[in-house]
Amino acid sequence: MFLLLLSLALIASCVDGYKTCQDILDVAIIGSGPGGLSAARALHHITGLSKVVVYERASAFRPIGAALGLNTLAYDTLKEFGMDLHDRVRSIGSNPQRHVLQRPSGEIIYDDESFLANTDFNWLAWYNLQTALRVAAEGDADTGGISIQLNSKLVDFEEDEEAGIVRLHFDDGKVVHTRMLIGADGYNSIVRGKTVDDGKPIFTGTMTWRGVMDRSHFNKIVKIEPFKSIGDGVNLSIVGDAKNFCVMDCGEGQIAWTGTAIYNNENSADKHAPANIKALNVFKNWPPIIETLIEATGASAIVESGVYDREPVSSWGALKGTFKRTTLLGDAAHPIRPSLGLGSTLAFQDSKCLADNLSGVDLGNTENVANALKLYEKERIDVTTPLQKKARQEGANSHAENRAEQMKAHLDASLATKKKTTH
Ligand SMILES: Cc1cc2nc3c(=O)[nH]c(=O)nc-3n(C[C@H](O)[C@H](O)[C@H](O)COP(=O)(O)OP(=O)(O)OC[C@H]3O[C@@H](n4cnc5c(N)ncnc54)[C@H](O)[C@@H]3O)c2cc1C
Repeated sequence: MFLLLLSLALIASCVDGYKTCQDILDVAIIGSGPGGLSAARALHHITGLSKVVVYERASAFRPIGAALGLNTLAYDTLKEFGMDLHDRVRSIGSNPQRHVLQRPSGEIIYDDESFLANTDFNWLAWYNLQTALRVAAEGDADTGGISIQLNSKLVDFEEDEEAGIVRLHFDDGKVVHTRMLIGADGYNSIVRGKTVDDGKPIFTGTMTWRGVMDRSHFNKIVKIEPFKSIGDGVNLSIVGDAKNFCVMDCGEGQIAWTGTAIYNNENSADKHAPANIKALNVFKNWPPIIETLIEATGASAIVESGVYDREPVSSWGALKGTFKRTTLLGDAAHPIRPSLGLGSTLAFQDSKCLADNLSGVDLGNTENVANALKLYEKERIDVTTPLQKKARQEGANSHAENRAEQMKAHLDASLATKKKTTH
């Protein structure tokens, strides 16, 4: 009888339509990029929350052809997430040992040790990073972890203050109830569309084409310097006016390439052409390694994306008080141009900060949750706003007319400083 009364009381204390409180998640995270997965891991490991689910619109985790760079800032943050995640991530990357800088004519203007050699900086394949974060988020047999649901595209949500929940709506009609919602759904975030409501992201005028391939295949097709005689750890940058093309070893026996150009897809004559055709046209008459890599990668494996950012804002939802159980994280919160190479690192830091602020907070208490989210937003907006602005300036400068000379000067000066400090 006592148990019956207890369960009736529990049901009464829950909210409309739920069978038991078990139906209410602690946290729902939208997006399984570096932001969403690191947040899931941090919330589980630091805050001790277990009813955390990541919802991802994609139907599978596919190896996508892009690489990114991480340094000490990223590893120091990942260290806080347990499971030796920092060492795992470090071990799947490649530290640049040598840098070669070329003009589009093929003239080599720098060929020396990389100033990043033997530092904590690594290039990694994006998919390998995502896999390491996913494995950590899902946890191990001893401690358990969080669950990730694919094929789950969020289309709308609303906070129900009286019930102390957020109600999520997915494109297949599924409805989910959660104490907290984190929008880690990238620069075009649907969650941001409601909490900040600042329209579409800003196109920077720059397009990128990226690919990854196995080193063994690369070695068969690239018969030219600087790669012919060099092993792992070489970076090649070919830099011209308004365009550049980089090739880098990104660890785990893989090579990545990135072509970047000022290019407006909407105004382009080959707007509807496959990505490989566009990239070949953009880098026509540049050194032959470019054509070799683009053709070997193939249209379907090339990641073509525009570069977007947004104006920094003073609240991601909680600080202005209109949302009490919803916030943003990663690119959804502070989309940043890739020029500083900090996007993922900032997302990891957001995750740590959010988990720290939520530690010990009773998620049933709306005001406590709202206060924790306000502290999180304040702390992270103060850090990310100046970086968003700096990245925008640097990004604009990355296509300056004398960019190759600027880069040479930077590589020379950085190596000289490094040699001075290490001898
Ligand atoms: C050319 C380029 C180079 C870069 N280089 C670097 C670098 O060197 N170092 C670095 O740290 N960063 C770099 N970045 C930035 C980095 O990739 C991003 O900052 C990082 O991916 C942000 O992670 P995120 O999880 O916040 O968002 P994303 O990686 O964009 O992930 C968002 C996820 O949300 C999912 N999603 C979106 N909408 C929904 C929805 N409605 N429902 C469910 N799921 C949804 C998406 O499918 C996606 O999986 C680079 C970016 C670019 C474009």
